[in-house]
Amino acid sequence: MPGFELFGDRERKEVMDVLETGVLFRYGFDNARKGHWKAATFEKKLCEKSGAKYAHLCSSGTAALSTALAACGIGAGDEVIVPPFTFVATFEAILNAGAVPVFAEIDETLCLDPSKLEEVITSRTRAVIPVHMCGAMAQIDEIQSFCKAHNLVLIEDACQSIGASFNGKSLGTFGDMGCFSFDAVKTITCGEGGGIITNSKQLYDLAHQYSDHGHDHLGGADRGADDHPILGANYRISELNAAVGVAQLSRLDAIIEIQRKNKQEIKNVLALFNDVSFRQLPDPDGDSATFISFFLPDANRAQQIMKAFAANGVDGCFYWYNNNWHYLRHWHHLKEMKTSAKLPLQQMKSISPDIIPDYSALSLPQSDSIMQRTISMQIKLSWSNKEIEERIESIKSAFIAA
Ligand SMILES: *Cc1c(COP(=O)(O)O)cnc(C)c1O
Repeated sequence: MPGFELFGDRERKEVMDVLETGVLFRYGFDNARKGHWKAATFEKKLCEKSGAKYAHLCSSGTAALSTALAACGIGAGDEVIVPPFTFVATFEAILNAGAVPVFAEIDETLCLDPSKLEEVITSRTRAVIPVHMCGAMAQIDEIQSFCKAHNLVLIEDACQSIGASFNGKSLGTFGDMGCFSFDAVKTITCGEGGGIITNSKQLYDLAHQYSDHGHDHLGGADRGADDHPILGANYRISELNAAVGVAQLSRLDAIIEIQRKNKQEIKNVLALFNDVSFRQLPDPDGDSATFISFFLPDANRAQQIMKAFAANGVDGCFYWYNNNWHYLRHWHHLKEMKTSAKLPLQQMKSISPDIIPDYSALSLPQSDSIMQRTISMQIKLSWSNKEIEERIESIKSAFIAA
């Protein structure tokens, strides 16, 4: 979880480049910027890292999702299949586009269960957004085949999983578009920021245009000379945020190496206990190792262990079933459709009364039973060897006490 753990000389140097020119903006001011193009540099490096042909940096992960939905033409009344274990941003972006989030079960990968997608498909389904949760992958090959077979758009929410891969291929490159977040708690941070990757020139053009008021970015140094092929919005990143990102991206490989080492040590101790089993990883070698997630036999035991962790000073642990932000159970604002906005969907209700599912009545028993048994522990970069040793001892004490 280095986003908030790391800020050093590299970040300061990149930001100072920008402050010294005073060009805090990613577009225009070609002469005054003295050769510094931080957003463009980040995009080039993100292409190199991910293997995607095109990358676009924008203001947040939510903006990345909104832009991807817009570029893929997903909107008014379209149904988009999503998991109930994610961050609220995934369904916010869908609702704000005027589309309908439709929840499908997760499996022990803690991501969408490919075998349960068929059950929720309707004549209005247009897209699937699998979420690669907690640094690791969904069964993305099977989800990709499903989307191909049903002619659905595939947008990967890889906001939590930059640097992770499946069978050697970067997450985010399996779909039509892949989205990343660089907010405070993600693997790398821009302060605030988001990224979109794609292999389609057409989708890339629509994405950079949409996120900048429709600018075609063909006018050169003169922004006023750009044409506006489409209507858009402003989801631009600032050059200052992009500068932080350039430094952070240069640390990504080292970050993941440390996380994997630290995670293995924690895994070794958890594996000593018979009632622990681990999150299913479709490709263990591709795990970015930001978290270790594991299952206890039932909800009671999981809660006992959580209590014992707290009592023994094992911090950074999450019991998602009770979490306000990441699991459907406590998304009361969604269930009651509480909004100050006048969402397009609510307007469409007069035309099509059943357009918004009754989220309060939604039942996802398979997901509930998995989440009730799941604990995730953050893997920190900053742990010293001594802290890891102490953590191992505290975990052992917690299991013995529980
Ligand atoms: C963080 C996150 C987002 C949104 O990113 P922001 O940059 O905070 O807007 C979207 N989806 C998931 C799964 C996330 O974890």
